[in-house]
Amino acid sequence: MNAEILKANDLKKVAPVFGQLSFDEHEQVVFCNDKDTGLKAIIGIHDTTLGPALGGTRMWNYATEWEALNDVLRLSRGMTFKSAVTGLNLGGGKAVIIGDAKTQKTPELMRKFGEFVESLGGRYITAEDVGMDTADMDTVREVTKHVTGISEHLGGSGNPSPITGYGVYMGMKAAAKFKYGTDSLEGKKVLIQGIGHVGETVLKHVTDEGGKVIIADINQERLEQVRDQYGAVIYSGDDLYTADVDIYAPCALGATINDDTIHKLKADIIAGAANNQLADETIHGRMLQEKGIVYAPDFLINAGGIINVYAELEGYDKPEIMRKTENIYHTTLEILNSAKANQITTHQSALKVAQDRIEKRKAENKK
Ligand code: NAD
Repeated sequence: MNAEILKANDLKKVAPVFGQLSFDEHEQVVFCNDKDTGLKAIIGIHDTTLGPALGGTRMWNYATEWEALNDVLRLSRGMTFKSAVTGLNLGGGKAVIIGDAKTQKTPELMRKFGEFVESLGGRYITAEDVGMDTADMDTVREVTKHVTGISEHLGGSGNPSPITGYGVYMGMKAAAKFKYGTDSLEGKKVLIQGIGHVGETVLKHVTDEGGKVIIADINQERLEQVRDQYGAVIYSGDDLYTADVDIYAPCALGATINDDTIHKLKADIIAGAANNQLADETIHGRMLQEKGIVYAPDFLINAGGIINVYAELEGYDKPEIMRKTENIYHTTLEILNSAKANQITTHQSALKVAQDRIEKRKAENKK
């Protein structure tokens, strides 16, 4: 065996959890196993200073357990900052179920998972994520009340995507205000990569305002359907990262801003829904800043979904959800201005607001 691999494997044995790359002082990591249903899950609770750790459950066929562990550590940390920067009284958590959602998900497995959530007594509240849908959350609800994103007829808040899309649109307008001095998107060329649930809502708002939307997706049928419905233009070049547009909205997958793409980008603004858009937060955040590209931090502008499920806990209504989501505009503008004033990246600026809020609460709790 290659000596380097052996060394890496030995290291994993020495520090299986606290030594992982994505470990960041997480409060609790729970490994859940059930032989009868085949459940293998990990729940990550990153920080509960501001409130119970809320975050979705992802079911994914991870190649290794290390991948699953790193994913839950990374995603739960992200939730801490998303809720904190949005001003919600929630901590950060996330769960992963190891397996194929299409073939291995059963009601028994979901109920067993719900029992593990219940055993944490409300420190962790779950919701849907990749590989999950509202019906799965309804099944989890049979055994625990610590679940959000359940069906509207059961008192849930329903599909979060239109709210997420509206928040992204608000963040995009704030970035336009910062860059151009006006938040009008009229006549602006906006490239939306990934025309799924959220992408479509963003497209609708931008089109309604007179923006020119260019769409890209791996699903050709979907592209044609959306083009016909909204009159958008399908991207036809060889490399969409070179597209001559004003705004690039990543709404498909993460890490699209990386060493390969960053040099090609011509957009003035990046504002989209995908999580973890910067392959490396520090390096690529700084490179965007140097190129004069305004980056609206993803975890800030895609918070509409969490605002929506938070309503289930706090009992506020749709107008209040929309008001809170609309506020993403002001928060984004503040964060962009503060980044400029302090000569830090916009990502760092958003992170600082979140961290300051957590530290302030910690200090208050000590009093
Ligand atoms: P979705 O699955 O409905 O849509 C994703 C779309 O991206 C699909 O149409 C898919 O075909 C397309 N796609 C996949 N790979 C692609 C590629 N390589 N190039 C171009 N297109 C590709 O997902 P969604 O709910 O619209 O979410 C979009 C993104 O926003 C995801 O990254 C998600 O994690 C993030 N997000 C969503 C929410 C929410 O409320 N739905 C909240 C926060 C963050």
